[in-house]
Amino acid sequence: MPSRYKTVLLFGAPGVVKGTQGKILGTIPGFFHFATGDMFRQIDISSDLGKIFYEYSSRGELVPDEVTVKMWTETIHAHCILHEYKPRHDLLILDGIPRTVEQAQMLDAHIEVIKVIHLICDDQKAMFERLRRRALKENRFDDADEKVIRHRWSVYEAQTRPVLDHYPSDMTIEINSVGSPALVLRDLLDIVAPIQNQHFSAYEG
Ligand code: AMP
Repeated sequence: MPSRYKTVLLFGAPGVVKGTQGKILGTIPGFFHFATGDMFRQIDISSDLGKIFYEYSSRGELVPDEVTVKMWTETIHAHCILHEYKPRHDLLILDGIPRTVEQAQMLDAHIEVIKVIHLICDDQKAMFERLRRRALKENRFDDADEKVIRHRWSVYEAQTRPVLDHYPSDMTIEINSVGSPALVLRDLLDIVAPIQNQHFSAYEG
């Protein structure tokens, strides 16, 4: 098992298509996509952890760092044991974590970040609409309410954006997320495919 997982971070504000693109990347051999939002949504809402998740996410707030990183560590370990994530062969695409500087510090022991891909979208109205549509389609309580969406954005600005400064500036690259999913994917692949090839050249599937 490598000492730290080789990782690319998908970074960006709520509604910037991180999840959509991450999921597509995750279908390609050699990439393992992990989204903490999906991890939390899989928890039984009536369990203790489920109640904590509901309490914070329904207000548009972040689950406390200790709980988040502990659950992330245990879940990623489980994926390794089940052989769904093969750290010797797969580039880890992390989506939705780290979301605070403290999480970034805690994760340093577990991940070797090779690139931070900052997805950007200048059209806040489009992002807002996307979140609203997704909330209706996926029955997401956090994005159904306009007040909660706005709060999620302010939490992003205050707590998550500073994470960018945790990593060297030449590690970060910006990608415009406006455009067709195929075009955004092409830009993403231009970055991640060479990284995957360089670090895992002997891919064995
Ligand atoms: P997402 O699907 O990434 O927008 O995440 C949905 C919700 O899960 C967030 O609003 C948070 O309440 C919680 N969450 C996801 N990732 C994290 C994280 N890294 N730290 C704390 N809370 C998180």
